[in-house]
Parts: sequence; C-alpha cells; structure tokens
Amino acid sequence: MTESPMHPKRRRFIKLTVTGLAVAPFANALLSRNAAAADLVKESDPDAVKLKYKADATKAPERTNAEEFCDNCLLYEKKDNASGTCSALGDRLVAAKGWCTSWGG
Ligand code: SF4
Repeated sequence: MTESPMHPKRRRFIKLTVTGLAVAPFANALLSRNAAAADLVKESDPDAVKLKYKADATKAPERTNAEEFCDNCLLYEKKDNASGTCSALGDRLVAAKGWCTSWGG
C-alpha cells in the first residue's frame, strides 16, 4: 500500500510555518535594535543640550581630542555595541560613538 500524497494546502502551511520560524529571530533583532535607537537620549533633550551632547562625536565642535567617545568615558556603561548608559544623563542611553563636554577618561 502506498502513502497518500500530502494535501497541497497542508504542504503550503508547513512551508509557511518553517519560513516564519526561520525569519522570526531576525525580525526580533531588527525590532529590538529599533527600540534601542528610539530610547537613545536626543541631542535636543534639555539635559543633553546642557552637556552639548552629540550622538556622533565627530559632529561636536567643542571636542578637541579625536580619541574621546562615550564608549571610553568613565561615566559610560556599555549596554550593547551601539549604546550604553550615561550617569551624567541620569543613566539614560547614549550612543557609543557619541560625546559631550562632561567626557571623563
Ligand atoms: Fe558620553 Fe561621557 Fe558625555 Fe555621558 S558623560 S554623554 S558617556 S561623553
């Protein structure tokens, strides 16, 4: 006795399910990256303005040492490769490659 062939709808369902499972981790990574970017302190935030914070250190005219970045500042605590918390800004998230006038090394 031969096995009956899989119903086309069932085959399609399995294919979609497998595709969904394969793609889900990447979708989550993208969503969490966007969430982290949205949580970063904005340069326009009043506390950030006081410290002349720039998310891109190379755009800070007051910065005289090209080696200074948030990710090598004493007030920075790394969260991931792109961001970390800053104690000068109430432990809010700043960009790893940012800078402000309170940089401490
Ligand atoms: Fe970046 Fe340090 Fe300034 Fe905080 S105090 S914004 S970590 S340079």
